[in-house]
Amino acid sequence: MGSQQNLRTPGPTPLPPAVREALAHDMIAHRGRQFATILRACTDGLKWAFQTQHDVVILTASGSGGLESVIANTLDPGARLLVASMGYFGERMARIARAFGVDVVQFDVAPGQAIEPDLLVDRLRAEPNVQTVFVTHNETSTGVLNPLRELAQAVRQVRPEALLLVDGIRSVGSVAVEPEAWGCDVIVAGSQKGWMIPPGLTFVSISPRAWERQAHSRLPRFYFDWQQARRAADEGGTPWTPALSLFFALEVALGLMHEEGLAEIFARHRHLGQYTRDGLADLDLRLVADPRFASPTVTTAYVPEGVDAKKLLRSLEQNHNVVLAGGQGQLEGKVLRVGHMGWVQQDDLAFVLHALEVELNSAHTFSSGSRR
Ligand SMILES: *Cc1c(COP(=O)(O)O)cnc(C)c1O
Repeated sequence: MGSQQNLRTPGPTPLPPAVREALAHDMIAHRGRQFATILRACTDGLKWAFQTQHDVVILTASGSGGLESVIANTLDPGARLLVASMGYFGERMARIARAFGVDVVQFDVAPGQAIEPDLLVDRLRAEPNVQTVFVTHNETSTGVLNPLRELAQAVRQVRPEALLLVDGIRSVGSVAVEPEAWGCDVIVAGSQKGWMIPPGLTFVSISPRAWERQAHSRLPRFYFDWQQARRAADEGGTPWTPALSLFFALEVALGLMHEEGLAEIFARHRHLGQYTRDGLADLDLRLVADPRFASPTVTTAYVPEGVDAKKLLRSLEQNHNVVLAGGQGQLEGKVLRVGHMGWVQQDDLAFVLHALEVELNSAHTFSSGSRR
Protein backbone atom coordinates (compact mmCIF):
# COMPACT_ATOMS: atom_id res chain seq x y z
CA MET A 1 0.00 0.00 0.00
CA GLY A 2 1.54 3.31 -1.08
CA SER A 3 1.59 5.69 1.87
CA GLN A 4 2.21 8.50 -0.62
CA GLN A 5 -1.28 8.07 -2.01
CA ASN A 6 -3.30 11.25 -2.39
CA LEU A 7 -6.64 9.79 -1.35
CA ARG A 8 -9.35 12.22 -2.48
CA THR A 9 -12.40 10.02 -2.65
CA PRO A 10 -15.43 11.37 -0.78
CA GLY A 11 -14.55 8.90 2.01
CA PRO A 12 -12.73 7.32 3.67
CA THR A 13 -10.44 10.31 4.03
CA PRO A 14 -6.75 10.49 5.05
CA LEU A 15 -5.62 10.30 8.67
CA PRO A 16 -3.30 12.79 10.41
CA PRO A 17 -0.20 11.17 12.00
CA ALA A 18 -1.48 11.76 15.56
CA VAL A 19 -4.66 9.86 14.72
CA ARG A 20 -2.70 6.95 13.22
CA GLU A 21 -0.65 6.81 16.41
CA ALA A 22 -3.80 6.69 18.54
CA LEU A 23 -5.07 3.79 16.44
CA ALA A 24 -2.00 1.76 17.41
CA HIS A 25 -2.90 1.91 21.12
CA ASP A 26 -3.41 -1.42 22.87
CA MET A 27 -6.93 -2.51 23.93
CA ILE A 28 -8.43 -1.43 27.24
CA ALA A 29 -11.42 -2.76 29.19
CA HIS A 30 -14.50 -1.21 27.64
CA ARG A 31 -16.33 -1.32 30.97
CA GLY A 32 -13.56 0.47 32.86
CA ARG A 33 -12.98 4.03 34.07
CA GLN A 34 -10.49 4.81 31.31
CA PHE A 35 -13.07 4.18 28.60
CA ALA A 36 -15.69 6.17 30.51
CA THR A 37 -13.35 9.18 30.38
CA ILE A 38 -12.72 8.75 26.65
CA LEU A 39 -16.43 8.33 25.90
CA ARG A 40 -17.27 11.51 27.81
CA ALA A 41 -14.57 13.49 26.00
CA CYS A 42 -15.78 12.18 22.63
CA THR A 43 -19.42 12.95 23.38
CA ASP A 44 -18.61 16.48 24.58
CA GLY A 45 -16.40 17.09 21.54
CA LEU A 46 -19.12 15.88 19.19
CA LYS A 47 -21.72 18.15 20.78
CA TRP A 48 -19.31 21.02 20.24
CA ALA A 49 -18.90 20.15 16.54
CA PHE A 50 -22.63 19.54 16.08
CA GLN A 51 -23.17 22.92 17.83
CA THR A 52 -25.88 21.37 19.97
CA GLN A 53 -27.03 20.64 23.49
CA HIS A 54 -29.12 17.75 22.17
CA ASP A 55 -27.97 14.29 23.16
CA VAL A 56 -25.42 12.80 20.78
CA VAL A 57 -25.11 9.01 20.79
CA ILE A 58 -22.14 7.20 19.27
CA LEU A 59 -22.86 3.88 17.57
CA THR A 60 -20.35 1.38 16.19
CA ALA A 61 -21.45 1.16 12.55
CA SER A 62 -20.89 2.94 9.26
CA GLY A 63 -23.07 5.92 8.38
CA SER A 64 -25.75 3.69 6.88
CA GLY A 65 -26.10 2.03 10.29
CA GLY A 66 -26.75 5.48 11.74
CA LEU A 67 -29.43 6.05 9.09
CA GLU A 68 -31.00 2.68 9.85
CA SER A 69 -31.06 3.60 13.55
CA VAL A 70 -33.05 6.72 12.65
CA ILE A 71 -35.75 4.70 10.91
CA ALA A 72 -35.88 2.02 13.62
CA ASN A 73 -36.12 4.56 16.45
CA THR A 74 -38.58 7.11 15.09
CA LEU A 75 -41.19 5.33 12.96
CA ASP A 76 -44.07 2.87 13.13
CA PRO A 77 -44.89 0.11 10.66
CA GLY A 78 -46.82 1.69 7.77
CA ALA A 79 -46.05 5.27 8.91
CA ARG A 80 -45.63 7.79 6.12
CA LEU A 81 -42.16 9.24 5.67
CA LEU A 82 -41.47 12.02 3.19
CA VAL A 83 -38.01 11.45 1.73
CA ALA A 84 -36.74 14.51 -0.12
CA SER A 85 -34.03 13.00 -2.31
CA MET A 86 -31.36 14.70 -4.43
CA GLY A 87 -29.72 11.47 -5.55
CA TYR A 88 -28.04 8.24 -4.56
CA PHE A 89 -27.90 8.73 -0.78
CA GLY A 90 -31.44 10.07 -0.49
CA GLU A 91 -32.44 6.97 -2.43
CA ARG A 92 -30.57 4.80 0.07
CA MET A 93 -32.57 6.24 2.98
CA ALA A 94 -35.79 5.50 1.09
CA ARG A 95 -34.62 1.90 0.61
CA ILE A 96 -33.78 1.48 4.30
CA ALA A 97 -37.20 2.85 5.28
CA ARG A 98 -39.00 0.53 2.85
CA ALA A 99 -37.08 -2.45 4.22
CA PHE A 100 -38.63 -1.63 7.62
CA GLY A 101 -42.16 -1.45 6.21
CA VAL A 102 -42.37 2.34 6.23
CA ASP A 103 -44.64 3.97 3.64
CA VAL A 104 -42.19 6.18 1.77
CA VAL A 105 -43.43 9.26 -0.06
CA GLN A 106 -40.57 10.11 -2.38
CA PHE A 107 -39.92 13.66 -3.49
CA ASP A 108 -37.07 13.65 -6.03
CA VAL A 109 -35.17 16.47 -7.63
CA ALA A 110 -32.89 16.17 -10.68
CA PRO A 111 -29.18 15.44 -10.13
CA GLY A 112 -27.34 18.66 -9.33
CA GLN A 113 -30.38 20.44 -7.92
CA ALA A 114 -31.09 21.28 -4.28
CA ILE A 115 -34.53 20.94 -2.70
CA GLU A 116 -36.51 24.17 -3.12
CA PRO A 117 -38.09 25.17 0.21
CA ASP A 118 -41.26 26.38 -1.59
CA LEU A 119 -41.67 23.02 -3.31
CA LEU A 120 -41.24 21.24 0.02
CA VAL A 121 -43.99 23.44 1.45
CA ASP A 122 -46.30 22.49 -1.44
CA ARG A 123 -45.47 18.82 -1.14
CA LEU A 124 -46.11 18.76 2.60
CA ARG A 125 -49.43 20.56 2.14
CA ALA A 126 -50.44 17.82 -0.29
CA GLU A 127 -49.51 15.12 2.24
CA PRO A 128 -51.56 15.79 5.37
CA ASN A 129 -50.64 12.42 6.91
CA VAL A 130 -46.88 12.93 6.84
CA GLN A 131 -45.49 13.51 10.33
CA THR A 132 -41.86 12.76 9.50
CA VAL A 133 -39.60 14.35 6.93
CA PHE A 134 -36.14 13.28 5.84
CA VAL A 135 -33.59 15.36 3.96
CA THR A 136 -29.95 14.84 3.04
CA HIS A 137 -27.94 17.90 4.04
CA ASN A 138 -25.18 17.28 1.50
CA GLU A 139 -25.74 14.79 -1.30
CA THR A 140 -22.39 13.10 -1.95
CA SER A 141 -23.21 11.75 -5.41
CA THR A 142 -23.84 15.20 -6.93
CA GLY A 143 -21.97 17.59 -4.61
CA VAL A 144 -25.03 19.59 -3.62
CA LEU A 145 -25.49 21.22 -0.21
CA ASN A 146 -29.16 21.74 0.62
CA PRO A 147 -30.27 25.02 2.23
CA LEU A 148 -31.02 23.10 5.43
CA ARG A 149 -32.07 26.07 7.54
CA GLU A 150 -34.66 27.12 4.93
CA LEU A 151 -35.88 23.54 4.47
CA ALA A 152 -36.32 23.18 8.23
CA GLN A 153 -38.26 26.45 8.26
CA ALA A 154 -40.48 25.09 5.49
CA VAL A 155 -41.25 21.99 7.54
CA ARG A 156 -41.98 24.06 10.67
CA GLN A 157 -44.24 26.40 8.70
CA VAL A 158 -46.49 23.65 7.35
CA ARG A 159 -46.23 21.02 10.08
CA PRO A 160 -44.72 22.45 13.28
CA GLU A 161 -44.99 19.16 15.17
CA ALA A 162 -43.37 16.96 12.48
CA LEU A 163 -40.04 15.28 13.06
CA LEU A 164 -37.21 16.44 10.80
CA LEU A 165 -34.54 13.81 10.17
CA VAL A 166 -31.25 14.79 8.51
CA ASP A 167 -28.45 12.83 6.86
CA GLY A 168 -25.53 15.05 7.85
CA ILE A 169 -22.91 12.42 7.07
CA ARG A 170 -21.25 14.58 4.43
CA SER A 171 -21.56 17.87 6.32
CA VAL A 172 -21.46 17.81 10.11
CA GLY A 173 -18.03 18.59 11.50
CA SER A 174 -17.01 20.44 8.31
CA VAL A 175 -20.12 22.52 7.59
CA ALA A 176 -22.16 24.44 10.17
CA VAL A 177 -25.39 22.98 11.47
CA GLU A 178 -27.53 24.44 14.24
CA PRO A 179 -29.90 21.70 15.34
CA GLU A 180 -31.83 23.74 17.93
CA ALA A 181 -32.04 27.05 16.09
CA TRP A 182 -33.04 25.42 12.81
CA GLY A 183 -35.31 22.77 14.33
CA CYS A 184 -33.51 19.62 13.15
CA ASP A 185 -34.64 16.75 15.37
CA VAL A 186 -32.16 14.11 14.32
CA ILE A 187 -28.84 14.53 12.51
CA VAL A 188 -26.56 11.63 11.56
CA ALA A 189 -22.80 11.91 10.94
CA GLY A 190 -20.20 9.34 9.91
CA SER A 191 -16.63 8.96 11.17
CA GLN A 192 -14.79 8.46 7.85
CA LYS A 193 -15.97 11.70 6.27
CA GLY A 194 -14.96 14.93 8.02
CA TRP A 195 -13.69 13.56 11.32
CA MET A 196 -10.21 12.45 10.19
CA ILE A 197 -10.66 8.92 11.58
CA PRO A 198 -11.42 5.57 9.86
CA PRO A 199 -14.90 4.26 9.02
CA GLY A 200 -16.81 2.46 11.75
CA LEU A 201 -18.51 5.01 14.00
CA THR A 202 -21.69 6.97 13.44
CA PHE A 203 -22.92 9.90 15.53
CA VAL A 204 -26.58 10.79 16.00
CA SER A 205 -27.92 13.97 17.61
CA ILE A 206 -31.40 13.54 19.07
CA SER A 207 -33.80 16.33 20.11
CA PRO A 208 -36.25 16.07 23.02
CA ARG A 209 -39.08 15.78 20.46
CA ALA A 210 -37.26 12.85 18.82
CA TRP A 211 -36.81 11.16 22.20
CA GLU A 212 -40.55 11.49 22.80
CA ARG A 213 -41.25 9.86 19.45
CA GLN A 214 -38.66 7.17 20.20
CA ALA A 215 -40.42 6.17 23.42
CA HIS A 216 -43.59 5.28 21.47
CA SER A 217 -42.33 4.19 18.05
CA ARG A 218 -43.00 0.55 17.28
CA LEU A 219 -40.47 -0.59 14.69
CA PRO A 220 -38.21 -3.45 15.82
CA ARG A 221 -34.76 -2.47 17.08
CA PHE A 222 -32.10 -4.00 19.25
CA TYR A 223 -28.46 -3.20 18.44
CA PHE A 224 -29.42 0.32 17.32
CA ASP A 225 -31.75 1.16 20.22
CA TRP A 226 -30.91 4.79 21.09
CA GLN A 227 -32.36 4.42 24.59
CA GLN A 228 -29.89 1.62 25.35
CA ALA A 229 -27.04 3.76 24.04
CA ARG A 230 -28.02 6.76 26.14
CA ARG A 231 -28.54 4.70 29.30
CA ALA A 232 -25.16 3.00 28.90
CA ALA A 233 -23.45 6.33 28.15
CA ASP A 234 -24.90 7.83 31.33
CA GLU A 235 -23.04 5.06 33.14
CA GLY A 236 -19.84 5.62 31.19
CA GLY A 237 -20.11 2.86 28.62
CA THR A 238 -21.81 1.44 25.54
CA PRO A 239 -24.42 -1.34 25.45
CA TRP A 240 -22.25 -3.52 23.21
CA THR A 241 -18.49 -3.75 22.66
CA PRO A 242 -17.51 -0.49 20.96
CA ALA A 243 -14.87 -0.11 18.22
CA LEU A 244 -12.38 0.97 20.90
CA SER A 245 -9.59 1.99 18.54
CA LEU A 246 -11.90 4.40 16.77
CA PHE A 247 -12.76 6.06 20.07
CA PHE A 248 -9.03 6.52 20.77
CA ALA A 249 -8.72 8.10 17.33
CA LEU A 250 -11.82 10.25 17.74
CA GLU A 251 -10.63 11.77 21.00
CA VAL A 252 -7.37 12.81 19.33
CA ALA A 253 -9.08 14.04 16.16
CA LEU A 254 -11.52 16.17 18.14
CA GLY A 255 -8.51 17.66 19.93
CA LEU A 256 -7.02 18.61 16.55
CA MET A 257 -10.34 20.11 15.50
CA HIS A 258 -10.46 22.10 18.71
CA GLU A 259 -6.99 23.49 18.04
CA GLU A 260 -8.00 24.63 14.57
CA GLY A 261 -11.34 26.06 15.70
CA LEU A 262 -14.81 25.34 14.35
CA ALA A 263 -15.23 28.61 12.44
CA GLU A 264 -11.80 28.08 10.85
CA ILE A 265 -12.69 24.51 9.85
CA PHE A 266 -15.93 25.66 8.22
CA ALA A 267 -14.09 28.47 6.41
CA ARG A 268 -11.36 26.11 5.20
CA HIS A 269 -13.96 23.78 3.68
CA ARG A 270 -15.81 26.63 1.99
CA HIS A 271 -12.54 27.88 0.54
CA LEU A 272 -11.41 24.43 -0.64
CA GLY A 273 -14.80 23.82 -2.26
CA GLN A 274 -14.47 27.06 -4.23
CA TYR A 275 -10.84 26.33 -5.07
CA THR A 276 -11.73 22.88 -6.42
CA ARG A 277 -14.66 24.16 -8.48
CA ASP A 278 -12.56 26.98 -9.95
CA GLY A 279 -9.77 24.53 -10.79
CA LEU A 280 -12.12 22.06 -12.48
CA ALA A 281 -13.82 24.85 -14.42
CA ASP A 282 -10.36 26.01 -15.60
CA LEU A 283 -9.93 22.51 -17.03
CA ASP A 284 -13.23 23.00 -18.89
CA LEU A 285 -14.99 20.39 -16.80
CA ARG A 286 -18.70 21.00 -16.31
CA LEU A 287 -19.85 20.76 -12.69
CA VAL A 288 -22.96 18.79 -11.75
CA ALA A 289 -24.12 20.97 -8.85
CA ASP A 290 -26.19 24.11 -9.20
CA PRO A 291 -23.52 26.73 -8.32
CA ARG A 292 -25.83 28.34 -5.74
CA PHE A 293 -25.79 25.10 -3.75
CA ALA A 294 -22.31 23.73 -4.45
CA SER A 295 -20.87 21.62 -1.66
CA PRO A 296 -17.91 22.66 0.53
CA THR A 297 -16.97 18.98 1.01
CA VAL A 298 -17.23 17.20 -2.36
CA THR A 299 -17.28 18.24 -6.02
CA THR A 300 -18.75 16.20 -8.86
CA ALA A 301 -17.82 17.05 -12.45
CA TYR A 302 -18.84 15.53 -15.78
CA VAL A 303 -16.05 13.75 -17.61
CA PRO A 304 -15.64 15.33 -21.08
CA GLU A 305 -17.28 13.72 -24.08
CA GLY A 306 -15.06 11.01 -25.54
CA VAL A 307 -13.07 10.44 -22.33
CA ASP A 308 -13.56 7.11 -20.56
CA ALA A 309 -14.17 7.91 -16.87
CA LYS A 310 -12.87 4.55 -15.61
CA LYS A 311 -9.66 4.86 -17.63
CA LEU A 312 -9.13 8.40 -16.44
CA LEU A 313 -9.46 7.38 -12.79
CA ARG A 314 -7.09 4.47 -13.39
CA SER A 315 -4.39 6.63 -14.98
CA LEU A 316 -4.69 9.22 -12.20
CA GLU A 317 -3.92 6.47 -9.72
CA GLN A 318 -1.21 4.73 -11.76
CA ASN A 319 0.65 7.84 -12.86
CA HIS A 320 0.10 10.22 -9.95
CA ASN A 321 -1.10 8.18 -6.95
CA VAL A 322 -4.22 10.33 -6.96
CA VAL A 323 -7.36 8.42 -6.02
CA LEU A 324 -10.70 9.99 -6.95
CA ALA A 325 -14.15 8.39 -7.14
CA GLY A 326 -16.45 7.75 -10.08
CA GLY A 327 -20.20 8.23 -10.28
CA GLN A 328 -23.01 6.45 -8.45
CA GLY A 329 -26.53 5.54 -9.56
CA GLN A 330 -27.64 7.60 -12.57
CA LEU A 331 -24.22 9.28 -12.77
CA GLU A 332 -22.17 6.07 -13.00
CA GLY A 333 -19.53 6.28 -15.75
CA LYS A 334 -20.35 9.95 -16.43
CA VAL A 335 -18.62 11.86 -13.64
CA LEU A 336 -15.67 12.00 -11.31
CA ARG A 337 -15.87 13.10 -7.69
CA VAL A 338 -13.22 14.91 -5.67
CA GLY A 339 -13.47 14.80 -1.89
CA HIS A 340 -12.26 17.83 0.06
CA MET A 341 -13.36 17.04 3.58
CA GLY A 342 -11.44 16.39 6.80
CA TRP A 343 -7.65 16.43 6.77
CA VAL A 344 -7.08 18.33 3.53
CA GLN A 345 -5.24 21.49 2.48
CA GLN A 346 -5.08 23.49 -0.73
CA ASP A 347 -1.78 21.85 -1.77
CA ASP A 348 -3.42 18.42 -1.81
CA LEU A 349 -6.04 19.72 -4.22
CA ALA A 350 -3.53 21.64 -6.35
CA PHE A 351 -1.77 18.31 -6.86
CA VAL A 352 -5.05 16.63 -7.84
CA LEU A 353 -5.89 19.39 -10.33
CA HIS A 354 -2.45 19.24 -11.88
CA ALA A 355 -2.63 15.45 -12.26
CA LEU A 356 -6.06 15.81 -13.82
CA GLU A 357 -4.76 18.38 -16.29
CA VAL A 358 -1.95 16.06 -17.38
CA GLU A 359 -4.25 13.05 -17.80
CA LEU A 360 -7.02 14.98 -19.55
CA ASN A 361 -4.48 16.37 -22.03
CA SER A 362 -3.21 12.92 -22.81
CA ALA A 363 -6.75 11.48 -23.03
CA HIS A 364 -7.71 14.22 -25.49
CA THR A 365 -4.59 13.56 -27.56
CA PHE A 366 -5.48 9.88 -27.68
CA SER A 367 -9.12 10.36 -28.57
CA SER A 368 -8.42 12.91 -31.33
CA GLY A 369 -5.59 10.68 -32.56
CA SER A 370 -7.82 7.61 -32.82
CA ARG A 371 -10.48 9.57 -34.70
CA ARG A 372 -8.06 10.43 -37.50
C1 LIG B 1 -20.96 8.24 2.93
C2 LIG B 1 -22.41 8.63 3.03
C3 LIG B 1 -23.39 7.74 3.50
C4 LIG B 1 -23.11 6.31 3.77
O1 LIG B 1 -22.28 6.09 4.80
P1 LIG B 1 -21.52 4.69 4.96
O2 LIG B 1 -20.57 5.06 6.04
O3 LIG B 1 -20.87 4.36 3.66
O4 LIG B 1 -22.49 3.67 5.37
C5 LIG B 1 -24.68 8.20 3.62
N1 LIG B 1 -25.02 9.45 3.27
C6 LIG B 1 -24.11 10.32 2.80
C7 LIG B 1 -24.57 11.69 2.42
C8 LIG B 1 -22.79 9.94 2.66
O5 LIG B 1 -21.89 10.81 2.18
